[in-house]
Amino acid sequence: MKPTNGKGKTIMVTGGAGFVGSHLCDALLAEGHRVICVDNYQTGSEANVRALENHPGFRLIEADICEPVSVEEKLDQIYNLACPASPPQYQADPLHTMMTSVVGTANLLRLAEQHGASFLQASTSEVYGDPQQHPQQEDYWGNVNCTGPRACYDEGKRAAETMCFDMLRAGRVDARVVRIFNTYGPRMSPEDGRIVSNLIVQALSGEPLTIYGTGEQTRSFCYVSDLVAGLISLMNVDPNPGAPVNIGNPGEFTIAELADLVLEMTGSTSPIVHRPLPVDDPQRRRPDITRAKQLLGWEPRIPLAQGLELTIPWFAQSLRDSQAPRGKPIQPARHPVAAAPL
Ligand code: NAD
Ligand code: UDP
Repeated sequence: MKPTNGKGKTIMVTGGAGFVGSHLCDALLAEGHRVICVDNYQTGSEANVRALENHPGFRLIEADICEPVSVEEKLDQIYNLACPASPPQYQADPLHTMMTSVVGTANLLRLAEQHGASFLQASTSEVYGDPQQHPQQEDYWGNVNCTGPRACYDEGKRAAETMCFDMLRAGRVDARVVRIFNTYGPRMSPEDGRIVSNLIVQALSGEPLTIYGTGEQTRSFCYVSDLVAGLISLMNVDPNPGAPVNIGNPGEFTIAELADLVLEMTGSTSPIVHRPLPVDDPQRRRPDITRAKQLLGWEPRIPLAQGLELTIPWFAQSLRDSQAPRGKPIQPARHPVAAAPL
């Protein structure tokens, strides 16, 4: 593929062995860049980047970003995607989740400053909490419970945004912030407990599809290749927008509608069962992507049904490949999890 953003950059991708990060590594290598993937495999897996291991432009470093990371090569760009994204996973060790966003992002901003590298922070629609504005625009300050079980993620990501804009204002780092809305596709961990992975795995396995609450809550689902295009575009747009940018697909669905679509597309006869709604679960979520359209000329191309068509076969293959009997998808914590020592 022809490089679109200047050939031969050296680019660090933290969280590069995760779902989104591994697709980003693929795309950057395909553009002709050298990629240094940093991951502690907390929620990602070496399998996601196995196909890249013999690529001459790819290097894999096993490290936790909560510790300072150093490399000899001069870095041109750093994408910080390191952080668990699934609610059960980020709530399993909430202090580490918070430290990953706060200490980890501070470490990487310092690294970017040392190298004069541009920096892109993977933030989230969760900074809007349970939003009282709909759809959500970037200038909405959000409605986050700072003491609830989601706070380790939401407040950590908010603090990371703060550091990015402080470093940018101080002229120390060319920092950029993307607010990612629910994204799905191949290489999501089948057991990560998120809605798309849970429903597809349950439908393919003939298990009941779990809907938390009534299923009337909404989310807007973005296919992973659309997200990756948005990330690369925001990293390279000139001048730096100096403000966060929503990247997501505005197509909004209730969770009940998503479950019906998955049943229809998999041909599954699994029943639907209802489970309690997790604490602080946002009721509605849809990105306003006006800013991304204006600044980046970006908009999503893949509607939900088409994205599911690309995703379901990957999960089917992944289930066939797994030798050991599969565990049940993880359920969310109903109560704040006891704090583990730092
Ligand atoms: P993921 O869990 O598949 O990937 C996260 C990766 O980060 C994993 O490989 C994990 O091992 C690694 N990681 C976690 N903590 C780390 C640490 N302390 N040091 C080093 N590596 C660490 O999740 P994802 O869906 O690929 O999400 C990627 C990023 O995008 C995350 O920062 C997430 O917050 C953000 N995001 C994702 C979504 C989404 O819907 N996928 C939505 C909003 C924001
Ligand atoms: N959800 C559900 N069943 C599941 C997993 C999730 O009904 O098996 C709901 C969850 O309560 C939320 C929505 O689906 O309302 C999206 O959940 P997910 O964990 O994917 O991401 P979130 O957007 O909440 O971070």
